[in-house]
Parts: sequence; structure tokens; C-alpha cells
Amino acid sequence: MLTNDQLAQWDRENFFHPSTHLAQHARGEAPGRVISSGEGVYISDRDGTRLLDAFAGLYCVNVGYGRSEIAEAIAAQARELAYYHAYVGHGTEASITLAKMVLDRAPANMSKVYFGLGGSDANETNVKLVWYYNNILGRPEKKKIISRWRGYHGSGLMTGSLTGLELFHKKFDLPLAQVLHTEAPDYFRRADLDMSEADFVAHCVAELEALIDREGADTIAAFIGEPMLGTGGIVPPPAGYWPAIQAVLKRHDILLIADEVVTGFGRLGSMFGADHYAIEADIITIAKGLTSAYAPLSGSIIADRVWKVLEQGTDENGPIGHGWTYSAHPIGAAAGVANLKLIDELGLVANAAETGAYFNAEMRTALGDHAHVGDVRGEGLLCAVEVVEDKASRRFFDPGKKVGAALSAAMLRRGVIARAMPQGDILGFAPPLCLTLEEADTIVAATRDAVTEVLG
Ligand code: PMP
Repeated sequence: MLTNDQLAQWDRENFFHPSTHLAQHARGEAPGRVISSGEGVYISDRDGTRLLDAFAGLYCVNVGYGRSEIAEAIAAQARELAYYHAYVGHGTEASITLAKMVLDRAPANMSKVYFGLGGSDANETNVKLVWYYNNILGRPEKKKIISRWRGYHGSGLMTGSLTGLELFHKKFDLPLAQVLHTEAPDYFRRADLDMSEADFVAHCVAELEALIDREGADTIAAFIGEPMLGTGGIVPPPAGYWPAIQAVLKRHDILLIADEVVTGFGRLGSMFGADHYAIEADIITIAKGLTSAYAPLSGSIIADRVWKVLEQGTDENGPIGHGWTYSAHPIGAAAGVANLKLIDELGLVANAAETGAYFNAEMRTALGDHAHVGDVRGEGLLCAVEVVEDKASRRFFDPGKKVGAALSAAMLRRGVIARAMPQGDILGFAPPLCLTLEEADTIVAATRDAVTEVLG
């Protein structure tokens, strides 16, 4: 067996890690870790350190680690047929079954699912389909896509543009010209506006209306948003936000893409965020929870009214010129079928609602009164604790102090992984949906201790 030192050296010499400070990592300063196993909500590294993963990897291992039902489904599929493509109408029992299972769970207006590999490529697909749709309808100018600041939709060329976080644009010559950004539905962060929550929703709507007026509705194809902001800070939408936004989009004939990469398949305590917030989407993006990350697989679920136009397009133009070698990969599909069955059998959507309500309430009780805790917020099994320098005025810490990173490191010392979200001093929690009440207590206790250690 390789020694840890040997692995660390090979890692520094050869491995280009995503979302990593490259120079620090090469110097051996970045906090890397070689993970070797997982069971339930716990992972272990090669040194034998066991950690409670309160972020489920990257909010994706929804059924928890070490599920032999999924491992066996993957092995059986690999033995029987590791690969065949899905072009020109081909399929496998796994991919056809999974498409049916996804549609059975999706909101009623949905009609078909296209399978990709990850959330970024699924959103690239969605933008292409929206463009195709408007070209078929004879509206070649209607192409721009509106996204929100602090939204996260991937890190490709188009999807990195849609992502409303500066880190994903800077030095990459993004965003692309067809992308427009509007106000994030993050009431807590806009203390400067000094308005009620209801007025803030009206402000978000007015900003959207103004953007559409400025650009011209006939140039705007779609609006993309996560039902609840994820990577941008784990922020539930203010009451009334989605109905008000949807009314504007409908009036201007702008399609709505609900990016449910995080919220799909139970995380909010509902099967989809669209169900949770009564969102009527034209396209729904799915990934992470589709297979609980046991194999890479994503999807674009297409509403009937969009599907009918796409079909009509192929009658005029021949087969749709879009597809990946690995679209609907049989191993990913087999993992997806086993994963969705497990979610049903274990009642994980209901557990996310019940244990999630307990977890969020306990977090609020334990931390809400702390002098530097500005906000404790969440829904289902998503939760965020945002700390501030001054609570009354909602003044934030100087980013240079890296308080969020210090909090996350203090959590690690207590054996719990919580994510320092990329913007702001925010600890993010998105544990596996199989979380128990005792595990929830462990996370809350570690958070209280970590906040006390760092901020007094
Ligand atoms: N959309 C959302 C809402 C996401 O949270 C993510 C990933 N965190 C993506 C898209 C991109 O998915 P991937 O990293 O699989 O490309």
C-alpha cells in the first residue's frame, strides 16, 4: 500500500484540483485530505480520522455513504453492459426506467427528461434548448438569459457566466454577452435598503422589470434560478418572491429554468423545490440527488409546451444536433434507479422535512442569540449560519479576516464538516437526507462550540 507521504507528493506533483488555491496546494499549504471510506453520514481519511459530513460531499450524497444497494446495481450494470450510447433512439433498461421514475416524481406539467453528466452540462443543454426553441418559433433575437447575483449554475462558459459569483468570472473573460444578472433574493444582505421583507420582494420585481424594459422582452429567452439560493449563501426566498417573479416572466413570455441540482429529490423536504414553492418551471435541472453522487448523472426535465416545439423543430431540421457520448450512461442510470428506490423505501423526503425542521430549529435556538450570529436560516436539510461584526447594523466582517474559513476549521477540529460558503462569512450545512436527530444534535453542539471558540 502507498504511504501517505508518497500520495501527498504525487498529489502535489500531478493532480490539478478543481476550486483549489493552486499555488498553496503545490506548496503543501492547502488543507487537502485523502478520503478513503464512508458509512452513513461519516467519512474517514487514510489517517483514520472520522468526520461527520454535514455537507454530504457537495450537497450530493443524499442517501448517505456506503449504500450497498446502489453499489450492487452499479456492479451488475457494469458486468451486464457497461456502456452503450443513447443516440438515434437507443436506450437501456436502466435509462428508460430512470426516465419514467424521474417523470413520475416531477411536477405534472413535465413531459421528457434528457440525461447528461453533471449540473453544469445540464444547464448548458438548457440554454441551447431555449435558443433552439426560440429559433423554431421564428424569434431569433430572443436569446438573452437572466440569472441572479449569487446564483450558482455551474462553471462552464455559459454556466459560469450564469453563476453570479465574481470568483467564477474574474480572469476568465466571463460573463458572456448574452447573460444578464439581477438582484439576489437575499433580504438579510440588503440592510442598506432599509425596507420590510415585502418591500424587498417588490424591489426585486421592480429590478427585474427594469432590466427587461431596458433590454427589451423580445431579446430575453429565459430566467434561471435555484428555488432556494445554494452556493451563493443558502438563502430561502422571501415570502411571495416566486409568485411575483413568475408573474413578470409570464407577462413577457420568458421561460423559467428552475435549477434544482441541489433541491431536487428531497433536500427541502419536498420531492422538488418547484413543489415546495409552487414554481411552474419550463425546464428543471437535476443532478446531485439523482444518483446521490454514486455515479455522475444529470438531467434536464422539459415541460410539455417546450417539448412540443422541440419536436416540431426536428420535423423541419432533422435530428437534434445535441448529445454527449455519455448521455444517459447505463452505469449512472443504474445508480439513479437504485438511488430513487432507496429514497422511497427509507422515506428520506419525509425525513428531510421532519429532521430538517428539528435541525433548523435547534440551530436557531443554540445560536440565534449569539452577539455575532446575524442570521440562522434554512429549510429542510439546508441550513446556514451567517456571522457579522455588528448585529444591529448587519455590518459584515472584513473579508480579509477570513472568519468563515476559521469557523469551518474550528468545526473540523470538532469532527464535523461544514462548508465555508464562497462569499460572506457563512457556514453551510447540507447533510445527507438520512440524518438522525442525534446526528443533528452533534452538528448543532459542534457549531455552538466552534462559534464560541472563534468569536467568543
Ligand atoms: N446548479 C446548481 C444549483 C449547483 O449547486 C451546482 C453545483 N454545486 C451546479 C449547477 C453545477 O453542477 P456540477 O458541479 O455538477 O457541474
